[in-house]
Amino acid sequence: MDFLDKYKYFKDDPSEFEIDPKEFKKNSNELDESHLSNLLTNSIRVNKKILPKVGKAIDLVFNRIKIENNFNFFVTADNTQANAACSLMSTASRPDIFLTSRLIELLSLEELQFVIGHEIAHYVYQHALYPNYNRVEERNLKLNILTLSRAAEISADRIGFLSCSGLEHSLKALLKLASGLDEKHLKFKFSVYLDQLRDLEDLGKSSSELWSTHPSFLIRMQSLIWFSMTKEYHEFFEVKKKGSYSLEEIDEKIDNKIKKIIGNEIDISNKGIYETALLWGSLDIYLSDKTFSKIEQKEFINRFGEKANKAISLLKMSNSKDMLEKKIDMSFSEASKLLKTDKNRLIEELKTVGKETGGEKMKKLKIIGKLLNFLGVKKPVSF
Ligand SMILES: [Zn+2]
Repeated sequence: MDFLDKYKYFKDDPSEFEIDPKEFKKNSNELDESHLSNLLTNSIRVNKKILPKVGKAIDLVFNRIKIENNFNFFVTADNTQANAACSLMSTASRPDIFLTSRLIELLSLEELQFVIGHEIAHYVYQHALYPNYNRVEERNLKLNILTLSRAAEISADRIGFLSCSGLEHSLKALLKLASGLDEKHLKFKFSVYLDQLRDLEDLGKSSSELWSTHPSFLIRMQSLIWFSMTKEYHEFFEVKKKGSYSLEEIDEKIDNKIKKIIGNEIDISNKGIYETALLWGSLDIYLSDKTFSKIEQKEFINRFGEKANKAISLLKMSNSKDMLEKKIDMSFSEASKLLKTDKNRLIEELKTVGKETGGEKMKKLKIIGKLLNFLGVKKPVSF
């Protein structure tokens, strides 16, 4: 299944949250079959004899993406929602994918393959292990988790695309799911839908996109159109055409497009937390020898500007030691929930500050070690 890894959208990176899907191992001693028993009771298990269209779609998908079918597929009665889900209890023996009856009625054989491939991808990429934004309080962490969740959908769409026989089927599936309508009412002129994306982009800041677990169907369509232009995609289908972009270039384009739509709120929020932690952490390092000379103060101001002036005036008040401790506590507790890349960058910058300031090296290393601990990073420091 690892060969599918290369199609992942670059922001679909659980290591930013210290999650390693490869470490995930099923514990066969504690199989949880309650979920399966629920599905077996209330839904129909897909079998080609009774559900030929769905059965055929499933076969075609596994043929195309060349992985073993160890899934249970079910059809659930739901005439209102065209929906599918891959419900993987982490200890269940087999992943279960269920499709609603409305979905099957709405989609053609090829479009169904797109949805099935999409759901299989959620299992292959172990998206069920990703943090749940509903379970966290902090606004910034919530936003970062939602970014990951939307990225996971873009990855899953790519496998959906590889699972059906072409771009048009994938886009049609997305449009049908977004509108709930079939071709009786819906005309597929993709350029018109992309105009709608442009309008959304012109608005500049969509908070509904910012707080959504799934990207807008418009973003998903645009992402697939770009994906269909990549070298990696063409290689997969072993066609003669080469593709005009690398997947890396496409990922960048998608990221920029998403930023245009949701605005730069997430970047600003992450940056704010990063900079606050860096400011107070640096001050702690400067004060490692309990002195803060005029020269050091000047350096500190050069590094941090106006914020450094404010921090220095706070230091001049009584109980400055308590104040600094509190600031460190607060800012590093927030920073501990930043993405791993940002945390590593913060550590590197704190080390640079440590290198460049005066005072005893051991004392400075001790402080940096303490700050790393606050960040939840367990590794020895040196500079
Ligand atoms: Zn999905």
